Amino acid sequence: MTLVGSKSENSAMEVYFLRFEDAYIIYRPLRHLAFVGNKGLVRYIKQRLANGGEGQTAPKVEEFLEAIDFWAPDPPVEQQATILSEYMPSQAVLLMTTACNLSCIYCYAHAGESQRQDMSVELAKAVIDQAYENAQQAGRQWFGLTFHGGGEPTMNWETLVAATEYARQKDLPCDVSMSTNGMWTDEQRHWIVEHFTGLSLSFDGIPRVQNAQRPRPDGSGSFAAVMETIAVLDEKELPYGIRMTVTPEFFATLPESIAFVCEHTKCARMQVEPTYKWARGDYSQPGPGEGDRFAQAFLDAFEVAAREGRQLYYSGARPWVIAPTFCTAPSEALVVTPAADIVTCFEVTGRNHPLASNLMIGHVSVADGVDIQFGKLAAFFESQQQRRQGCRDCCCYWHCAGDCVVRCALKQQPSRRQGRCAVNRRITRELIARYVAQGDGVWRGEATQTEFSV
Ligand code: SF4
Ligand code: SF4
Ligand code: SF4
Repeated sequence: MTLVGSKSENSAMEVYFLRFEDAYIIYRPLRHLAFVGNKGLVRYIKQRLANGGEGQTAPKVEEFLEAIDFWAPDPPVEQQATILSEYMPSQAVLLMTTACNLSCIYCYAHAGESQRQDMSVELAKAVIDQAYENAQQAGRQWFGLTFHGGGEPTMNWETLVAATEYARQKDLPCDVSMSTNGMWTDEQRHWIVEHFTGLSLSFDGIPRVQNAQRPRPDGSGSFAAVMETIAVLDEKELPYGIRMTVTPEFFATLPESIAFVCEHTKCARMQVEPTYKWARGDYSQPGPGEGDRFAQAFLDAFEVAAREGRQLYYSGARPWVIAPTFCTAPSEALVVTPAADIVTCFEVTGRNHPLASNLMIGHVSVADGVDIQFGKLAAFFESQQQRRQGCRDCCCYWHCAGDCVVRCALKQQPSRRQGRCAVNRRITRELIARYVAQGDGVWRGEATQTEFSV
């Protein structure tokens, strides 16, 4: 496949022409409309767009384009300015602890390496109060509570239980969820399935991958313990997604890991993210050939999941999403560290994070509540918008939206034509091609909201 394409844009509609094998995918991202055409059709559409719809037409071609409503204008899209003016985050995200009962080789947070810090019950309650008040003020029907890392949230069990019970006493329903490694005691398993609404479980698949990438601190494997947790989740039917990380050494095993999850669990939704270095806290670009190897492994695994009726996705390639930002963490979540700092990203778990000075936007005091520095928040959104301007010609502009701020800032990308961007584009095109094939020649997808985080 040739990875080139071009874009036509007029005031009413945006169209990309993506080379695919010996033809083109003609793609209107904002309408989730795509089909395959030859060079002649591409030339015809470009001319019509350039002439503002005037000039000679080809009746048969027009008949087809009218039938798929090709000329309809793009719908309006949410802008970042709207997000800031309506800032009212109603999802309390508590970064619970820096301690962990695993020692993953790629841990973004370097968990367990520094002095342990835990979120207090009082701080958790103050954050929950604010998320609840925001939800009420915004007229929402519910608010959210998510436990997240820097470590394994269940290691701070006392706060987790107290915060859940506190949130559930409010007079709005509360969705309670967690990103976890699943290394729980029996008692914890049973408590969580009784009290949680959903979960994101980090699990890397077949035993040799899970045990190599996600060992315990003593070096022993974690596979069997996590499978015990999965068995309880499946038995009690608690909704959960699996988030798999894969390193270059194991790219080729990805389809096997997905087949394993399909065969041995009821998990309906899986996410795969590559990490290109066997090192903690590293967001390196892919090495030579690694981007292509990951993309191919993902696409093969995607077929495996599709055959089993499961969903598999990678955060950099989400053609069904239309988003002004890569993730909703900065706008919808009140993310708070154990040291009571408010941050725009789940991965900034402490002041020693390399991006802390840009991504810390306030502080929480147990006595006085939440203090957001709106100037810093505005500067953060502005910097994201500026970074995204460099993506304007990319076919992933509306879906990847400039990519994850942390991965972009730390990965030292050579250009937006290479590295992770090339992976994102290749997978996006291949997914669109599959959707077109499934739709008998035309993809007319549904738009959804972006996800919280990778
Ligand atoms: S489970 Fe999460 S926090 Fe713990 S070591 Fe692994 S990646 Fe780090
Ligand atoms: S240029 Fe790269 S970061 Fe920007 S939208 Fe495209 S894939 Fe994403
Ligand atoms: S997607 Fe990126 S920016 Fe958003 S919360 Fe996750 S790591 Fe942070």
